[in-house]
Amino acid sequence: MEKNVVKINELVKRYGDLIALDHFSLEIKEGEVFGLLGPNGSGKTTTINCLLSLLAYDKGDIEIFGKKMTPVSYDIKKEIGVIMQNVAVFEELTVYENIDYFCGLYITDKAKRKQCVEEAIKFVGLEDFRKFYPKKLSGGLLRRLNIACGIAHKPKLIILDEPTVAVDPQSRNRILEGIQELNRSGATVIYTSHYMEEVEQICTRIAIMDKGRKVAEGTKDELKRMIKNTETITIEILELPDDVRREISGLPHVYDVRFEDSKLVISCSGGKHNLTRVLDVLQKRELSFGRVYTELPTLNDVFLEITGKALRDKED
Ligand code: ADP
Ligand code: MG
Repeated sequence: MEKNVVKINELVKRYGDLIALDHFSLEIKEGEVFGLLGPNGSGKTTTINCLLSLLAYDKGDIEIFGKKMTPVSYDIKKEIGVIMQNVAVFEELTVYENIDYFCGLYITDKAKRKQCVEEAIKFVGLEDFRKFYPKKLSGGLLRRLNIACGIAHKPKLIILDEPTVAVDPQSRNRILEGIQELNRSGATVIYTSHYMEEVEQICTRIAIMDKGRKVAEGTKDELKRMIKNTETITIEILELPDDVRREISGLPHVYDVRFEDSKLVISCSGGKHNLTRVLDVLQKRELSFGRVYTELPTLNDVFLEITGKALRDKED
């Protein structure tokens, strides 16, 4: 049986009157890339901070590698690599010196450390930037430096808190691929994000958070099977007479019809040939339409059905 790497039991964390974590529980097994997905303010960072004993909590308990985690659990901490949401590096140290500093907190043997630092630099692709100071790096490169600092000592558990925010697409892909590579070489990973596409792409299991609670958990396929939506049909069309709308609403498997910004959006639950039936209705009435596409449910649909709101704002 796979070992538990992390076990969070009924965690409660309050900031004054605000309940940031509300009886939050989680088990993460060895070898997983575990995703914590939730909108801003749902409690992801608070979970990470409690997990690391950086933040005192009101109730519950936390085990890492089968042992109780406390602020003085140094034997546990040295096996963890953390990449915090806010990049934390020394402005007065170069890329090389920064990684060497963080690695040196764990590895004191000079030759071994040099090798680890070099491997980390190569891993994040900063070979050409060894002597650069952080303020000369772009957002994406800075993120990569931050990651190199967190992983150089080869931790067994790697925690990344929203590592792709404000990062260019090239660095983003590199980061996502790097996480999977670290996992393949044996690390268990906890990855937080409010980007559902990333979580779908790299996570073996996902917990969806909202307002400090776990609202759903499973693989991406399990999560999608929890909801009634199986297909969303979108048709670009200029006008939609009321009786046509009613006829579409009455088709088998259709449970929601919306029409806005010249787009007809139809939500279906189960069944086949939903699109054919809808197009038959439009053609029978000789209504002309533009682009047509159908989409399988996303984790946003899962979030939407469970909480009644979208995972993130449109402008985000
Ligand atoms: P996430 O990382 O998912 O965006 P956070 O864990 O940062 O969420 O925040 C969870 C909730 O706790 C939010 O409502 C946030 O405003 C609140 N919060 C976070 N840190 C503090 C703090 N130091 N003091 C007061 N409230 C906080
Ligand atoms: Mg956060």
